[in-house]
Amino acid sequence: MARRPITGQTRLAAVIGDPVRHSLSPAIHNAGFEALDLDWAYVALPVSAGGGADALAAMATFGLEGLSVTMPLKDEIAAAVDVASDAVTALGACNCVVRDGDRLVGHNTDGDGFVQALTEESGESVDGKSVAVVGAGGAARAIIDALGRTGAASIVVVNRTLDRAERAAALASVATVAAADQAVEAIAACDVVVNATSVGMGWVPGGSGGAADLPIPLEGLRSGQIVADIVYQPLETPLLAEARARKLVTVGGVGMLVHQAAIAFEHWTGQPAPLDAMRAAVADLIS
Ligand code: NAP
Repeated sequence: MARRPITGQTRLAAVIGDPVRHSLSPAIHNAGFEALDLDWAYVALPVSAGGGADALAAMATFGLEGLSVTMPLKDEIAAAVDVASDAVTALGACNCVVRDGDRLVGHNTDGDGFVQALTEESGESVDGKSVAVVGAGGAARAIIDALGRTGAASIVVVNRTLDRAERAAALASVATVAAADQAVEAIAACDVVVNATSVGMGWVPGGSGGAADLPIPLEGLRSGQIVADIVYQPLETPLLAEARARKLVTVGGVGMLVHQAAIAFEHWTGQPAPLDAMRAAVADLIS
């Protein structure tokens, strides 16, 4: 299908952050607009730290329909939106802004995107599951918050820096922390194991690193578990390769990437997101 021409009627959405030129979001969202034949376009706008409030004012001035927000602006946008979702209030981080009349409404779609991807790809609901989340950064925090809201029975947080794990675990009433010397046992006791650290990112098959590329002690993996990795570059991380070799159910990071974008797309356009087209756009860019 030929790309729609951009006209005076075209509605605009954008990702803001720094760096942002490498972002996959324009490809994902423009593929979605094209699949639904919507007269919308999505671009990347570099905005440095400290520029969040000005970017929101510009969104209102220019009548942009939606913003995705990436590093380093998620915290300042969370503080500057007119209305914050429960997730934004809990996390102090916003990755999606929606224009609702005169008001700019902030959402955080990362956690729900993860839960949707996990459910879709594993065929299992998180309801009633015990989950080990390894990592306590921005993505882990969003995942812990969403797991807590969607019925996980228990969450154990494992992180290199213990006090960060404690702050992340405070986001969900069912979450506790495991110290390094209890990590193997705690992970082995869970139904679902999630790598939410950046370990494994950029890994090249056959490259150097070895155990340094594995965020999770392999002794913690056991049959019956679902193993998810939110790192999406490469598509198959060392952790996912190890889990697959053990015949465990695996969930890669692309699903979260696509679903968090799909939730934003639906907020902006009011239309069900064309997930297959959005996923195909990512597949063209990542191997
Ligand atoms: P972040 O806030 O910087 O947090 C990084 C986390 O990784 C922290 O828990 C950190 O531990 C841990 N970590 C980093 N290096 C480590 C190492 N060598 N050993 C053990 N732990 C280590 O980053 P983020 O925003 O949460 O993102 C984390 C990863 O998720 C990135 O790779 C990002 O690309 C990916 N991500 C994917 C999606 C998706 O849609 N699939 C969405 C968001 C993020 P400390 O606390 O001890 O420093």
